[in-house]
Amino acid sequence: MNNPCIPLGTLDEFVARHIGPREDDIEAMLALTGHDSLDALVDSVIPASIKGSSVLTLTPGQGEAEALAALKGIAANNQLYSNHIGQGYYPCHTPAPILRNLLENPAWYTAYTPYQPEISQGRLEALLNFQTLVSDLTGMEIANASLLDEATAAAEAMTFCKRLAKNKAPAFFASRDCHPQTLDVLLTRARPLGIEVVIGDEAALEGQPLDGYFGLLLQYPASTGAIVDHRALVQRAHAAGALVSVSADLLALTLLAPPGEWGADVVIGSAQRFGVPLGFGGPHAAYFATRDVFKRDMPGRLVGVSIDRFGKPALRLAMQTREQHIRREKATSNICTAQVLLANIASMYAVYHGPQGLAQIARRVHRLTAILVQGLRQLGHHVEQAHFFDTVSVVTARPLADVLAAANAARLNLRLIDDLRVGVALDETCEQGSVEALWQVFAGAGQALPDFAALAADGADCLPSVLLRDTHYLQHPVFNRYHSETELMRYLRRLGDKDLALDRSMIALGSCTMKLNAASEMTPITWPEFGALHPFAPASQSLGYRQLTDELEAMLCAATGYDAMSLQPNAGSQGEYAGLLAIRAYHASRGEAGRDVCLIPSSAHGTNPATAQMAGMQVVVVNCDERGNVDVADLQHKAEQHKARLAALMITYPSTHGVFEDVITRICDIIHACGGQVYLDGANMNAMVGLCAPGKFGGDVSHLNLHKTFCIPHGGGGPGVGPIGVKAHLAPFLPGHGHLPKQQGAVSAAPYGSASILPITWMYIRMMGGAGLKRASQLAILSANYIARRLEEHYPVLYTGENGLVAHECILDLRPLKDSSGIGVEDVAKRLIDFGFHAPTMSFPVAGTLMVEPTESESKEELDRFCAAMICIREEIRAVENGTLDALDNPLKNAPHTASELVGEWAHSYSRELAVYPLADLRESKYWPPVGRVDNVYGDRNLACACPPLSSYQDA
Ligand SMILES: *Cc1c(COP(=O)(O)O)cnc(C)c1O
Repeated sequence: MNNPCIPLGTLDEFVARHIGPREDDIEAMLALTGHDSLDALVDSVIPASIKGSSVLTLTPGQGEAEALAALKGIAANNQLYSNHIGQGYYPCHTPAPILRNLLENPAWYTAYTPYQPEISQGRLEALLNFQTLVSDLTGMEIANASLLDEATAAAEAMTFCKRLAKNKAPAFFASRDCHPQTLDVLLTRARPLGIEVVIGDEAALEGQPLDGYFGLLLQYPASTGAIVDHRALVQRAHAAGALVSVSADLLALTLLAPPGEWGADVVIGSAQRFGVPLGFGGPHAAYFATRDVFKRDMPGRLVGVSIDRFGKPALRLAMQTREQHIRREKATSNICTAQVLLANIASMYAVYHGPQGLAQIARRVHRLTAILVQGLRQLGHHVEQAHFFDTVSVVTARPLADVLAAANAARLNLRLIDDLRVGVALDETCEQGSVEALWQVFAGAGQALPDFAALAADGADCLPSVLLRDTHYLQHPVFNRYHSETELMRYLRRLGDKDLALDRSMIALGSCTMKLNAASEMTPITWPEFGALHPFAPASQSLGYRQLTDELEAMLCAATGYDAMSLQPNAGSQGEYAGLLAIRAYHASRGEAGRDVCLIPSSAHGTNPATAQMAGMQVVVVNCDERGNVDVADLQHKAEQHKARLAALMITYPSTHGVFEDVITRICDIIHACGGQVYLDGANMNAMVGLCAPGKFGGDVSHLNLHKTFCIPHGGGGPGVGPIGVKAHLAPFLPGHGHLPKQQGAVSAAPYGSASILPITWMYIRMMGGAGLKRASQLAILSANYIARRLEEHYPVLYTGENGLVAHECILDLRPLKDSSGIGVEDVAKRLIDFGFHAPTMSFPVAGTLMVEPTESESKEELDRFCAAMICIREEIRAVENGTLDALDNPLKNAPHTASELVGEWAHSYSRELAVYPLADLRESKYWPPVGRVDNVYGDRNLACACPPLSSYQDA
């Protein structure tokens, strides 16, 4: 009984929760690959030249409860002040039903980007609502499905104007009344493209010629609060052939004449205050809206209405040919992962409140601000704006330092604009007490406070009468029927039920690493200690965040072998951009500013060439051989040919083909010998953590996708975090920010980008420990090789390493089947839906193939279920090949099959059973797609990107 040797142990060891296969499963899987241990398998997968380069300490992880407690301790070092800083970030209420049924609901947050529309109708509808919300409020004809943040959206607007304006002058005018962080990112993005940004006072443009500008950026209301009538300026800009972009506040637009009504060509901004917490700067959805004539040039993803094969309305991502993954070095934007989850929160906020509710919130904020201002004037302060919405700037009657000290004592943040002025912004969460607390801060000793009731009775508002909104918005029924909680809850459930996310089955998306997003990792992101911090509050209030980011940077350095890390980029694409800028700045610091050639293998992800383009580099494509590997002779030749101008090589490792190329160290040596730097795209880091380290085997800089390898959920297409790790020599060139000590320009609006989701990765690493992380990589490799072995007799596995093994993903070649059966990769992808599976990555990096990445989180049972589906599909293809199934009327060509199709007249040459229950266990649990196969061409020809009238659904 009393054996003293029984160790206490941890009760809730996380590693075994995160990793799917059990011990005996692992043995069986290893046996199939012909190895007797994980170490032996990995030993044959990882090339000798990089083996052992990992510097990760193999410590054990912490239990879930223990790690959460540790993080709670860190969070306690953040101070919760009342925030009146404004400047693009406003406290708001996340409606509880949206918090619980959307933000905290895996049906929403574990979904992938909606590239497979038939299993994505729910989130596509939510995004269509977002687009409708934005185009209605801005008064524009078309809006996209989100961008990364307001500042990068402004940068996209700048380059958009440059492409489309008649005026080909080199300069862009940006109002000094834009948010400072917007101007900062604008300058960063303009420099490599040779765009001159002129920051100035638009009032001073009066009477000045505008021919020198291809475009303008104005802010409405201004960053410090004023509402200015820009109509005459817009007319003059148009007369000069320039385009006008406006950064606008969506809440203010419920009361003010929208920019679309006074001539703006582009309207951008943030949807944060529609229910998304401050989160120390992000993630938040930015928006981008424009005129119909410019729609084909819009950056980012666009949801459009099309029809399915029964003619029923169905949604899908429209005009994908505009996107970076197609246009590559001709791309005009590199945005890939966006902010879908946050856009969906904002859209549901509008669905829940409706047009009257939103206007009511806006009017209340404005009234409180007007009362506040009257009181401040009574107290003798000079409020600069005659017309404002919710923000003003104040020249204080008593010393500014005294006011700031009083604000600090009252635990309240104001915006310090300059030596003379403070800014004050109110928001949805403010009430009478907030206004009185502010008066108290501004009042001198012994000064009587204004009488709130008396001022409130007075009732005047301070919106300019010439710019009052007199047009309707959000008239569509979707914004007018879900105002009770019961109705909203069911709407969210209905939409969630239409989609296939990780809460239903595995999503084996090569390159995208759809692994477990554990509940314990997700829990902290909605703690107020992380959610309620303003990114520009004094640093003394965010010591908890500082500890979190310091520790996370150290963890990620240990995982990659790099010396320094920047957490600022809010997607992988932004990390690529920050990395290439660091390389350029490094070369320039050595007097080699002329180095501007970027070598990129033909197999690269589309964001690589798009990013190089944005960084002002010239892309030179390097060939790949028939095995999918980089053609080293071609690489050597091109590196030497461009030796004098070689800036960088961008290379993905393990390769986009899912193989550890053993020549990687030689490739890095060739580039270094020619004076270039190696950008190692770290999207495939899930094959390497704990096994080998890019920072030690030749990389100078890499981005990581925390939303792939490090457990941040995909959110249906964002948020993401794309930190970059660099070797020491590049550390001085990491992104800076007005609120960071570093000197370089910013790439994101907030100093730590999408700060509030960093706890997810911190929790993951802390709970796994170095040992668990290494095991995760080993299991990811084992699972991919297991699938490759199980499926290779049915589908050829396209690329393997020297030893016949793959890394953490494998490519199934379906091209030969097209000739023998007419069945293509898309048919197989759609048929998988009938089996309840999301398709693997289609036609990347090789057209006509499927790239399967199972990840370590899937159990052997789930892997087997997937293999069974793929094998069953292969049998169906064989039946088409030998004529047992009709060449055109077969379950593959007609997939996916909907429930309503079954109850109609059955006109097919195969049975209903074969259509929907091809495997017996589907009778136990079945996913029913809400629409049949979606017609992309129809939707692109008849482009509609806002909520269609309800009649169009009823007619069909
Ligand atoms: C996902 C991915 C990217 C882009 O990352 P985002 O976070 O979507 O911007 C870049 N390269 C590769 C290889 C990828 O798989």
